[in-house]
Amino acid sequence: CLARDELSVFLESGIYRFVDSRFIFVDPVRVLNRLYSRFRVSPAGYYSRFFECERKGLENKDCLLYGKKRKRKEKKLRCLNEKECAADRRHQVAKPLLLKAYESLLQATDLLSVTRSLNRESGCSEGRKLFDLPSDHQSLIEHGRVWQAPLYEITLKLPEHDQSSEVGGSSFKDRVVPLFNNLVVNETSDEVEAEFLDHQYILPRESCFYMSDLRLVHNLIPAEASSGFSLILIDPPWENGSAQQKSKYPTLPNRHFLALPIKKLSHGKGALVALWVTNREKFHRFIDLELFPAWGVIHISTYYWLKVKADGSLISDLDLFHHRPYECLLLGYCYGEDVKDVKLLEQTLPKDRVIISIPGDYSRKPPIAGITRNELLQEYVPGPKPGRCIELFAREMNPGWLSWGNEPLHFQESQYFIRT
Ligand code: SAM
Repeated sequence: CLARDELSVFLESGIYRFVDSRFIFVDPVRVLNRLYSRFRVSPAGYYSRFFECERKGLENKDCLLYGKKRKRKEKKLRCLNEKECAADRRHQVAKPLLLKAYESLLQATDLLSVTRSLNRESGCSEGRKLFDLPSDHQSLIEHGRVWQAPLYEITLKLPEHDQSSEVGGSSFKDRVVPLFNNLVVNETSDEVEAEFLDHQYILPRESCFYMSDLRLVHNLIPAEASSGFSLILIDPPWENGSAQQKSKYPTLPNRHFLALPIKKLSHGKGALVALWVTNREKFHRFIDLELFPAWGVIHISTYYWLKVKADGSLISDLDLFHHRPYECLLLGYCYGEDVKDVKLLEQTLPKDRVIISIPGDYSRKPPIAGITRNELLQEYVPGPKPGRCIELFAREMNPGWLSWGNEPLHFQESQYFIRT
């Protein structure tokens, strides 16, 4: 009976709480849908991967077999070097927690009975296919690099009361503003549609973005510490050999991240900093020894994102060395003027958490901002509540957040949404 209640809460909120409260399963589509009133996130658009076995008519065991073949190949490799041993030690620390979380998922048969259909719109038997972009489609990143970039403008269709123009029965007023290197704000309490060239975007209520290259991130430093950010989420474009990543977005060498002005962006009372990182030991070492010290961040806790397929199986074997089915969210604090305040929060911040979900597009993370609205991080944010939030290297927008990066509008494009 309790489990059935949990399932109805999940179907409503997108968050399934297991009996062990350290673990949650998240359906990002449902979580994101709660942030919109006139649009819904398209499940087929979100879940563009990991439902493939089903689409190709393959049995899940074929997918598992692929993982096993890879594992056998890896076993043939030489002994681990020093860095790999350190990575393995890190993995062994995380493994018992991840196994427990996974066990919780396997026991939640009510939840597993619905995961296979999460890519479908309710009432539809098949996932809708996203339309293909024309071959000459230029990405936002490419537009931002050309000499004309400072001349590009975005048109916001703001709700109007004086009936000056009519679009689809409601009245709107166009506001045209520079697209790049400019803070573009939807201060209204409703979604705003926006247009750039032939592309439409949906801006969530009370959200803003600043689309620029890393060199201009300094423009976001507040004039006064009291208007700084108390929650800073960062998902850097870590260098990675993957050809897939290369074609999705540019990456940066580690030294560039040292220049991020985290301390200056922080609120005077301090900031909770959440940093996504893959399992490469090189990155973990860099963060521990150089990045967090340079940012003035004290690492307190590590949360894990465990990736599963639609049938509940892990996307790869947990022990597969170069392709683990999880990533880490490192949490730490930047101290503010009153160190005691932050020290108290440090003690209450939960130490072990696992977020389980079916991954969306390449490198798209579970919607921490959306989950944060209800729980997870908001209560551990220093200073006034709700905290002022910023996402660095963002590809989407959220109510109450400033999204910065070279393509913060990426997943706001209308093709990822369904009009209600
Ligand atoms: N958190 C995002 C999500 O869940 O979809 C993924 C972020 S992805 C790991 C890193 C982002 O950093 C990409 O959008 C990439 O284009 C952007 N990026 C790469 N180089 C950049 C630069 N020099 N300045 C600003 N953004 C950059």
